[in-house]
Amino acid sequence: MELPFAESWRIKMVEPIRMSTQQEREQWIREAHYNVFQLKAEQVYIDLLTDSGTGAMSDRQWAAMMMGDESYAGARSYYNMRDTIERITGFPIVIPTHQGRAAENVLFSALVHEGDVVPGNSHFDTTKGHIESRKAAAVDCTIAEARDTQLEHPFKGNVDVARLEEVIQANAGRIPFIIVTITNNTAGGQPVSMENLRQVREVADRYGLRVLFDSARFAENAYFIKTREEGYADRTIKEIVREMFSLADGMTMSAKKDAIVNMGGFIATRHEDWAEGARRYSVPFEGYLTYGGMNGRDMEALAVGLDENTEFDNLNTRIHQVQYLASKLDEYGIPYQRPAGGHAIFVDASLILSKVPKEEFPAQTLTVELYREAGIRGCEIGYILADRDPVTRENRFNGLDLLRLAIPRRTYTDNHMDVIAAALKNIYDRRESITHGFRITWEAPLMRHFTVKLEPAD
Ligand SMILES: *Cc1c(COP(=O)(O)O)cnc(C)c1O
Repeated sequence: MELPFAESWRIKMVEPIRMSTQQEREQWIREAHYNVFQLKAEQVYIDLLTDSGTGAMSDRQWAAMMMGDESYAGARSYYNMRDTIERITGFPIVIPTHQGRAAENVLFSALVHEGDVVPGNSHFDTTKGHIESRKAAAVDCTIAEARDTQLEHPFKGNVDVARLEEVIQANAGRIPFIIVTITNNTAGGQPVSMENLRQVREVADRYGLRVLFDSARFAENAYFIKTREEGYADRTIKEIVREMFSLADGMTMSAKKDAIVNMGGFIATRHEDWAEGARRYSVPFEGYLTYGGMNGRDMEALAVGLDENTEFDNLNTRIHQVQYLASKLDEYGIPYQRPAGGHAIFVDASLILSKVPKEEFPAQTLTVELYREAGIRGCEIGYILADRDPVTRENRFNGLDLLRLAIPRRTYTDNHMDVIAAALKNIYDRRESITHGFRITWEAPLMRHFTVKLEPAD
């Protein structure tokens, strides 16, 4: 008999969690104005809000934290982290920041100006926010296949290179860089192929432009290149990662994802002029250049996490769990962005709650239903997140309307996946009876999803 698959780690420390009653959840979600960001974490049983900063650190990461050098300037921990990042990515210059959006803020303060255009593949919400708040435009050039959730494509995160070239030609002189998000979070945690990264590089070189990788899940992207792209099956994850970054001029990193730390980020580049620009903003926004919002111990844990998570076994365990949840949803016929992405399952709410009008936010409605059903906290990646057009102030209903179930790294077991799938099945079975969603009673002018207040629309 062939032995079944099992995790490449064992558990040394546990944290109790508790299932609530239906009645408790009804009250809590009402008090949270039907916005799961406003719930207390203790009111949640299985927390799939995000895979950001929610992973379990390893014994080696915890041990490394004891070695943190907390010197204000020139700490050994900074140089350890810098050396690891250079070894893994090839970028010699590293500017730490407290998280990914801070890396964007620091670098974009130097590079992005009013009237600029930044083409890329489904810019992440904070990335888009940092571009639009500087009165520049983020132009999405993701391949059209990404918009059809039921279509199987191995690299749905890819950039449409022809479209990219059109945008570049139409905006000559206004493009500070091209941004490629690996993996493409907003399109469903979908990977970008090495071939596509090479094509983007080729276009950039032809127009004398630079390429920035928004790299939060670069290791997961490398895993998909290894397992799906021809010619990479025998290459190590670290070799693939080096090749990927050889095609970029720099990276912004949310270390809360693929470095498996609770907080941290950085900018890395090979260009002194980018670094010089970033340093001007790093000091006032983040802190001195060798800590930038991180403790020495955080930088030690980050270095170990990056090293561990660019090994195949760790990634294989993780992606296998995401695919296990996908296989349960397949069994129940529940539609999600296919194939399953790296860090999450993106359930297609528009196909499930087809009776809820888009003006009443079907994916948000499904998010609230899942919480009511089993205390599971997912996250709307849909019309509320898409926010309003900065010019017309109209809701943007042209994208996908998804419920994201983000799986924290090394945190839950496959039994939890079974509970999640069963809860979704119960909702799926009664989907015809859900005909109304929510209307907005209050929203912030930028990144409204965190604080938006809602009320039932019926
Ligand atoms: C999380 C994320 C960011 C922002 O990073 P934070 O650490 O949350 O500030 C930027 N881009 C992508 C693709 C992300 O997933």
